[in-house]
Order: sequence, then C-alpha cells, then structure tokens
Amino acid sequence: MPNEQSPVIELAIDLLSRASVTPEDAGCQKLIAERLSAVGFTNESMVFADTTNLWSRRDTNITIEDQAKTPNTPSNNSNDIVFCFAGHTDVVPVGNLDLWNTPPFEPTIIDGMLYARGAADMKGSLAAMIVATERFVEDHPDHQGSIAYLITSDEEGPFINGTTKVVDTLEARNEKITYCIIGEPSSTNSVGDIVKNGRRGSISATLTVKGKQGHVAYPEHVKNPIHLAMPALIELSQVEWDKGNDYFPATSFQLSNINSGTGATNVVPGHITALFNLRYSTELTDEIIVERVEAILNKHQLDYDIDWTFNGKPFITEHTGAEHGFLHAVSQAILTVTGNETQLSTSGGTSDGRFIAPTGAQVIELGPCNATIHQVNESVSCDDLEKLVDIYYHCLVNVLCSHK
Ligand SMILES: [Zn+2]
Repeated sequence: MPNEQSPVIELAIDLLSRASVTPEDAGCQKLIAERLSAVGFTNESMVFADTTNLWSRRDTNITIEDQAKTPNTPSNNSNDIVFCFAGHTDVVPVGNLDLWNTPPFEPTIIDGMLYARGAADMKGSLAAMIVATERFVEDHPDHQGSIAYLITSDEEGPFINGTTKVVDTLEARNEKITYCIIGEPSSTNSVGDIVKNGRRGSISATLTVKGKQGHVAYPEHVKNPIHLAMPALIELSQVEWDKGNDYFPATSFQLSNINSGTGATNVVPGHITALFNLRYSTELTDEIIVERVEAILNKHQLDYDIDWTFNGKPFITEHTGAEHGFLHAVSQAILTVTGNETQLSTSGGTSDGRFIAPTGAQVIELGPCNATIHQVNESVSCDDLEKLVDIYYHCLVNVLCSHK
C-alpha cells in the first residue's frame, strides 16, 4: 500500500479497519464526531438500547445583529435550511472468510480498488461526506443554513433503534431536516449515474388459512385448507394493484413461502401458511393494501389469521423543474464533476430514507457503485471516492452558497 494516501482514502481506511458489524459501531462515530467538531460541529450521541447514533450539526454564522434585522424570519429563509448527510457505520457480516482474497477488516488497495467489508456500503461514502464537508467549511465558512449528520449503527439490522429513533427525537423538539443526502451506493456503472429519489413501500404478511385435518379417503370429514386457500392466493397474485406513476413501477405482489402438509400422502392437513410481500408505489397506502387483501380473503370465505409487517412507506422527492430545486442542485453537482447527466430511480430495497422523508425532508440517495455490496470481496473504486468528495462538495455549494 502506498504511504501517501489522499484524505478520503485515508479516512475510509481508518473507518474500514473497524469491525462494526450491526449493531456494533466500533468507534467509527467517535472518529466522525472528532473530525466534525474540528470544523465547528456540535455532536450529540443518541444511544438507544444496543445502538449508537450520532446527530451532529454546524449552524450558520448568523450574528445577533443579523437576527435583529429580520425578527420575523420566514420559514423559507435560506438560513433555516438544514442540509443533512445521513448514513450508517454498521456493516453486514463478512460471510465465508475463506472466500475473501484479503481480510475484510484489513482494507487493501489493489489496482485502484479498495477492498474491505463496508467499502461501498457505506464507509466510503461517509469518508467522502466528511472530507467534502471539511473542504466546504474551509472554503465557505460563512455559508448559509446548517449542515447536519445523522449517522446510525443499525441500518443493516432490525432498524429499530437507529435512524427512526433519532428522527423521533428530532421531531419531538421540532428540529427539521430540509434536504438530505443518504450515502447509500446508488450508482450502477459510474459514480453518480443513478440517484435514488425515492423508494417503494414494503409490506409483508403471514397468512394462515385454517381447515380441518383428516383422512384423504373421507373428504366429507375434512376441510382441505390447501384447496380453500389456492383460489384466493391465485387471485391475489393476479390483481392489478395500481398502474404505478411517473416515478414508480406498478405495485407488485409476490408469494415468497407456502407451507402445508404433514408429509403423508393420506392426510389432509389442518392449515396452510403463506408468506407474501408487496412492493408498492405512492399510488397506494398500507391501509388500502390491508383492506384490499382482506376483502379478497373474505370474498373466498376463508377462516384465516393474518399478521402484517409494515416495513416502510414509499417516499418520493420530486423534480420541481425549478432552478433552485434540491434535485436540480444535486444533478448539477454530478454534471459538474463527472460530465454526465444523472438518472433518477426508485428501484431497489428500502432504506433509512423511509424514516427521514415523512418529516417533510427532501431525501435522495447518492453514493458509489453497488455491484459488490453485501458480497465477499466488497470493493469501491478509489477514483470514485475522490469524485464523490467533489460531488458532495458541489451539492453543499449549490444548496448553501447563493454566491458560488
Ligand atoms: Zn447501506
């Protein structure tokens, strides 16, 4: 490894050397907090059960005289803007160690690629955000608005004590995020080619349809739950839930598990269990989905229990078309650095954006390429991290500097 590292690679390596498998943080947030406080941020550690979170904020340099001049500051005053970088310090488990070419927590650069667990998801982005912020604060100490960091160590896990609890705490004291960039690896082929400006909602259910167990030779004495459930499950799989919209594909229903039977050919089982999930657009709500699914089950006169799991509501940050819009600021930053137009997408799984967006924040995800995330030999391109620093830097400039 070369001795001389650029600031972003050096910081990424420092973060990646810490084995912070969910919900462990392994000192990553302490390191981030130190870097941020050195450039004027105030840190607040928020610990909920096993999860450490960091809320850090650098407020605008408005003077008391400035405030006196505008006593009734309107809410759209640029000094009220809170530009937040959000992300997670936790990583997924390494899996089979034998399959790693280099130890997952000993970051190694080979041919311009940085290998380590979390390199792309998402300690590389964290390092890029911090270096961009340091550079921005140095260049523009009198910037407008505030810069904030919302960092959790529970994004890859059960997401109970992470971002959602921090957001609850902020909401309780009426502290708002205006714009948020989450450093999730959004890119496909080159850094910045894709920005996620929303995510589909996700809702799951465990359905148990009850029948009456008995001997197959005496159908008059049994109620076969497989026969009863199948027509309803087929109908559920064929329903057109919606047609999607400009931002989202049509809502999709997928059966993921069906279990029934005793293993014997001569026994009608007593029940059947089906697990399914819907990925849904902003045309629907979880209430509407529950109502429509249960209406179908009731129409088929099933005796059933159903347990719903609400994984996250859909969210969208719309392109306002306006020159001052957040998406415009982000796409311009990407264009400036890479020379490429970015594409908006709402594909992929859920993210912590689902907790931040409902507060009214405009949320996007922008990070490095995601080809190796959660895999063995996870890696990120060193060049991409350098570009990411520049992109985040220009996002800050475009949003927080009226005189660029
Ligand atoms: Zn992630």
